[in-house]
Amino acid sequence: MMQLTRDLFDKVLMQNYAPAQFIPVRGQGARVWDQAGKEYIDFTSGIAVNALGHCHLEVVSVLQAQSQTLWHSSNWFTNEPALALASKLADLTFADRTFFCNSGAEANEAALKLARRYAVDRFGAHKTKIIAFKQSFHGRTLFTVSVGGQPKYSDGFGPKPADIVHVPYNDLNAVKAVIDDHTCAIIVEPILGEGGVIPAEPHFLHGLREVCDQYNALLIFDEVQTGVGRTGKLYAYMHTDIEPDILTTAKALGNGFPIGAMLARDHIAKSFTLGVHGTTFGGNPLACAVANKVLDLISQPHFLIQVSTRSQQLFTALERLNQKVRLFRQIRGQGLLLGCELDTLYHGKAAEFNALANQHGLMLLLAGPNVIRLAPSLNITDDEFSQGLARFEKTVEVFVQRA
Ligand SMILES: *Cc1c(COP(=O)(O)O)cnc(C)c1O
Repeated sequence: MMQLTRDLFDKVLMQNYAPAQFIPVRGQGARVWDQAGKEYIDFTSGIAVNALGHCHLEVVSVLQAQSQTLWHSSNWFTNEPALALASKLADLTFADRTFFCNSGAEANEAALKLARRYAVDRFGAHKTKIIAFKQSFHGRTLFTVSVGGQPKYSDGFGPKPADIVHVPYNDLNAVKAVIDDHTCAIIVEPILGEGGVIPAEPHFLHGLREVCDQYNALLIFDEVQTGVGRTGKLYAYMHTDIEPDILTTAKALGNGFPIGAMLARDHIAKSFTLGVHGTTFGGNPLACAVANKVLDLISQPHFLIQVSTRSQQLFTALERLNQKVRLFRQIRGQGLLLGCELDTLYHGKAAEFNALANQHGLMLLLAGPNVIRLAPSLNITDDEFSQGLARFEKTVEVFVQRA
């Protein structure tokens, strides 16, 4: 039989990724095992995706049941799971209508196209400017990567879509300096995820809402990472007293089964008329059945309270640890999305820290060269949590001694 080793990755997969040396083969809750049977505590949730942990029993059973019922029917037909899921999203959020797709990038692509189409319909062909933020991340299609604020991801692919401007995050004056009657939308992550786990200041989001209203521009919240309970509310905008016009969600929505969604109010959604946008797999019964279960479980108030409680425990434990070792310059984030920024002394060493954590049986994420990102499953048990923390502490001890 063929040896499925890490070396094989370098032969048969494109080298746009450099995965860890070990290969996970099984997961249960917040635990993962590799080919050698070594156990890891997973503080990544597959990048904020497996919010209910690996192989959650109720989610597995919904997937099994749907897999024996109907997998796919195309957009020539609707299906019951999609109808139920869209109704649920309308009940639980500001939005009236949903467009289903398969990823965060696709949800943002749809959001940006809808914003442009709506502006052109309502106000004319001149209204196409999109304001986005430096360091932001919105996906890897050419449009979303051009809107994202990280040139290293968008350069080198030829001409980019036009009329996109980037200003510093949390800088309302910079937005005011570029917004005008030609602006169709501002797109913002409530917490910069990939860009370093940097939360938006409340007055900043408020200010964005005000200037959008003033200039008839749409406010798009990219909640691909912050959504579905990650911050302790179902969506991060629910911590504020403002609402976006369009919201995108993906990652945790399917707990690992690919699904994305773009949500909007009725009068805006109207611009997606028959045939204007589409996707083959979007809204398929398998993905929607799973997402229905995920939303049912995560949207319960007691579940979300438990996320906030766990969040406080995690912040407290990390702050206490850091008082001893002074490894981190700042520990920030919201809910169970945390970023630990390394002290300047250790800058550039996040990847090294991560490799060491792997050795100690802990899976972590990075957000740039200086930030360790933690995104454990939202229902991580006391046992998994304390073991994960112990392994984190051990990693910190060894790392500081070595450095
Ligand atoms: C992950 C992410 C995306 C892209 O999602 P994909 O499913 O990888 O296409 C977009 N926006 C944010 C904020 C993300 O974190």
